[in-house]
Amino acid sequence: MTNLQSVSTDPTPENLDVFVSTQSIIQEALSKLGYSASMYDLLKEPLRVLTVRFPVRMDDGSVQVFTGYRAQHNDAVGPTKGGIRLHPDVTEDEIKALSIWMSIKCGIADLPYGGGKGGIVCDPRQMSFAEIERLSRAYVRSISQIVGPTKDIPAPDVFSNSQNMAWMLDEYSHIREFDSPGFITGKPIVLGGSKGRERATARGVVICIEQAAAARGIDIMGARVIVQGFGNAGSYVAQFMHESGAKVVGISDAYGALYNPEGLDIPELLEQRDSFGTVTKLFKNTITNKELLEQECDILVPAAIENQITQDNAARIRAKVLVEAANGPTTNAATQILDSRGVLIVPDVLGNSGGVVVSYFEWVQNNQGFYWTEEEVDQRLVEVMRRSFDSVYQTARRYKVDMRLAAYMVGVRRVAESARWRGWA
Ligand code: GLU
Repeated sequence: MTNLQSVSTDPTPENLDVFVSTQSIIQEALSKLGYSASMYDLLKEPLRVLTVRFPVRMDDGSVQVFTGYRAQHNDAVGPTKGGIRLHPDVTEDEIKALSIWMSIKCGIADLPYGGGKGGIVCDPRQMSFAEIERLSRAYVRSISQIVGPTKDIPAPDVFSNSQNMAWMLDEYSHIREFDSPGFITGKPIVLGGSKGRERATARGVVICIEQAAAARGIDIMGARVIVQGFGNAGSYVAQFMHESGAKVVGISDAYGALYNPEGLDIPELLEQRDSFGTVTKLFKNTITNKELLEQECDILVPAAIENQITQDNAARIRAKVLVEAANGPTTNAATQILDSRGVLIVPDVLGNSGGVVVSYFEWVQNNQGFYWTEEEVDQRLVEVMRRSFDSVYQTARRYKVDMRLAAYMVGVRRVAESARWRGWA
């Protein structure tokens, strides 16, 4: 058992650079699996990173130059796949790390893809609908050379949605001069989107919660749940957990958090949220996001942004199960503290993989031109998520490692084996 006091008061500040922490866990996973240093050398960086700068006409007539990225981690398995985030804090290193996480996610779920990721440095909350449309189209024009339905397939991520995907599809189809629905996933259903895609990330999180709760003997009926973040993933997780009889005691958005040990009125909060998931501004008795994470609960679901649970607050987290809906909410040091306290962690690369799994289903349907019912999508998603959870859980037990390292071991093996067969390492 780790001495919690000494860990939580460690004066050495933790390195919060997600690219550095991703490289270190990839290295650890490869070495546990017995791969050589040359395999790490291949997988420690994306094979390709494109930086683009592109001008966009703003509503006031001025022209603003935006910066964007598209990283393709490794395409040994197949075309690369991953979302595009629109956020003021986007950096090249973050996009590189996220592209590696996508490789791991696709590996765990056994999808025929490598990892990719894109980002645009911008704040869509401060932009008009028409400005966001011009931005989305300009970004696609800038990256069109390296993406495509058999090369690299984008999707939604933080602050991008089916409307952005529709504009991007339209722009790409103009460039290529043919309609190409398999170029991008997360589209509106009428443009070839899949039934169940919008809620898929949350649905996957909930399937993981069920598996993790069963493993820890927690009854979902009446279980106390805190969800940090009320966007596309968090709000649906709160809704699904509420519907399945759990007691959602806490939620939050970028501005604050609500906590009530008696349970919150989730249907009412869903009604009141805006399209960026903002709702707490309407309330007086709010607490901070930081305070929310430390409240009493059985199941904690961080569904917001990176580095929320660190070595500074990990010892004060009271949940028995932590299921990551966001990418990167818990640092490697915090993972070790939580694991040593017996908290069952379902890491992001497993917890939020429902989104990319249904993106894959969407791409398959586009390629076939044959569309599935919502029940078919859900049944296949449940199958993939349960299988993924099992292989990570069993790997953790077999190698006596925490769930995050186990997930990386399962995920990286697929990429490494494909690369090895191709003679890349
Ligand atoms: N952006 C989501 C993720 O981080 C979905 C990616 C996709 O559907 O390709 O997993």
